[in-house]
Amino acid sequence: MMDINKIREDFPILSEIIYDRPLVYLDNAATTQKPWPVIRCLEEGYRRHNANVHRGVHFLSMAATEAHEAARARVRDFLGAASAEEIVFTRGTTEAVNLVAFSFGETYCREGDEMVVSVMEHHSDIVPWQMLCERRKMRLRVIPMNDRGELLLDEYEKLLGPRTRLVAVAHVSNVLGTVNPVGEMIATAHRHGIPVFIDGAQAVPHMKVDVQALDADFYAFSAHKIYGPTGLGVLYGKKRWLEEMQPYQGGGEMIDQVHFEKTTYNVLPYKFEAGTPDFIGTTALAAALDYVESLGMDRIARYESQLLQYTEERLSALPGLKIYGQAAHKSAVVSFRLGDIHPYDTGLLLDKLGVAVRTGHHCAQPLMERLGIDSCVRASFSFYNTREETDSLCAALERIRKMF
Ligand code: PMP
Repeated sequence: MMDINKIREDFPILSEIIYDRPLVYLDNAATTQKPWPVIRCLEEGYRRHNANVHRGVHFLSMAATEAHEAARARVRDFLGAASAEEIVFTRGTTEAVNLVAFSFGETYCREGDEMVVSVMEHHSDIVPWQMLCERRKMRLRVIPMNDRGELLLDEYEKLLGPRTRLVAVAHVSNVLGTVNPVGEMIATAHRHGIPVFIDGAQAVPHMKVDVQALDADFYAFSAHKIYGPTGLGVLYGKKRWLEEMQPYQGGGEMIDQVHFEKTTYNVLPYKFEAGTPDFIGTTALAAALDYVESLGMDRIARYESQLLQYTEERLSALPGLKIYGQAAHKSAVVSFRLGDIHPYDTGLLLDKLGVAVRTGHHCAQPLMERLGIDSCVRASFSFYNTREETDSLCAALERIRKMF
């Protein structure tokens, strides 16, 4: 078992008092809090190790380069990638999707081609593909789901055809918590010779992910959702794709030779990393990965799954509360509405009672349309949350229900 009280001591923000109450932070799908090793790494980085990477001949620059490249190797290990050349640092999941939509699109997509996404995608995994479709006059096709929030795999396979260039799907839905069977979906796409992009933003903080075991062609995640720093993310891409794809942005680092007549590009992964990277952030991400792996991804998954079960049982017992997302395989996210009370009011009142949740469309408006609602409340959990915090959420909801 995990000693949650001890773990919570690693996260200084968790002992903050908000409106005279201890903070109950249930907005972990939006961003996670940072443990001391990550905070210290950022502080030490700026205080003692700051110098630009890949350029300097001096001691600090070489040390910074070494730490930055060690962080890349750490990410490679974490994802089970074959080589560090396949690990591209980005600003986040969003930039990783935009990178692939542009670079893969430039290289492989033509008028009349098709692209497949699912109905439960985050806007980040819809809009860049839509923009690609507009640029290239392609068609965007959508995998439907059932009322429990599970993708319809038969319908999915029917969407795959000779003009399908790419499938993009979330490993875990940020609203429904559904863990999609991405291994199976990738195998299906591969039978048709189609590569697959997996949006892993909501998966990597909660479960062991092995990109080679999944056979994913692309896999993206954001550092800030896995206890690391903001403004940083990772794109994993199979070397065979990354090598052929056009660069995304031009600038320093991504070049080999620059002449006014012709410019040649750097080797992988630098071809996709124009400009100075967030080299302090990458070392802090490595510290975050060390932290979660020291707890154990399997233990994290087990603990969070028990917490989810407890939370769903408790919430279901509240009169008038409706949960959205009842997939057989779910991550610790519970989206709901309380009777006729507008989710925005529920969220505001929960905040005043010390409970931080998210309300709105959660950057998934097409999914909201499918659910027939415009918004909902979302409580999303981490391994540092407790049953007592679920009890606080339920007690606060009970008070709100009575108020209305
Ligand atoms: N995809 C999913 C499933 C997400 O939950 C999020 C963040 N809410 C994103 C993509 C975008 O991540 P970021 O804003 O860190 O780029």
